[in-house]
Amino acid sequence: MELTDRQEKIIQIVKDEGPITGESIAEKLNVTRATLRPDLAILTMAGILDARPRVGYFYTGKTTIQAIGASIKNKKVKDYKSIPVLVKENTSVYDAICTMFLEDVGTLFVVNENNDLAGVVSRKDLLRTAIGKHNLEDIPVSIIMTRMPNIILTYPDESLHEAASKLIRYQIDALPVVKPKQKADNNQKENKYEVVGRITKTTITRAYVDLGNEEL
Ligand code: ADP
Repeated sequence: MELTDRQEKIIQIVKDEGPITGESIAEKLNVTRATLRPDLAILTMAGILDARPRVGYFYTGKTTIQAIGASIKNKKVKDYKSIPVLVKENTSVYDAICTMFLEDVGTLFVVNENNDLAGVVSRKDLLRTAIGKHNLEDIPVSIIMTRMPNIILTYPDESLHEAASKLIRYQIDALPVVKPKQKADNNQKENKYEVVGRITKTTITRAYVDLGNEEL
């Protein structure tokens, strides 16, 4: 982020005298409050300055790089997740391949009869089966999927950064976004999950592009 001369001056004034009102900053710079508004908006959005109502602007102490880091970590899975493509456990490998083409995704999530997450099927899982000279219509995806509890999960309130780290750490293309299901009789969480979304490498690329467009 390239700061203008005036923005640098504003930062200096706020560093020296903050908390300070927008009016006072404007007076010191001999400009109107309206002239200053876009600069203050940019510096606040970048996380360099913060504003409190009836108190004024103060310096957060964050460098631009730290502010970018904070902006990355503020992005949540729930704000970026896309719609998951689900198949049942008894779906044939043949139908799963068709679904992948029709839905234009690279990973399918497999659910049981209660719609609990049961497994994940990726492109290579299907290719591996397809080169095995089996009758693909006779093999259910439940035989070839990676199954629970070995599925790497993400949650709506997890940071997108943590989800991206899991994709890299486990060398996978997609994570199901899940909500733990509550047991009916008590509030204990059990290892059953409803699939509410999907985070993929494309999701992360989109967030990266958004970040570039943010003009911190
Ligand atoms: P591809 O098969 O296209 O390379 P992945 O790298 O995502 O796609 O899949 C590699 C392996 O990891 C596959 O066997 C797949 O079943 C498994 N896998 C994919 N996603 C997950 C996940 N979220 N949790 C656990 N295993 C997964």
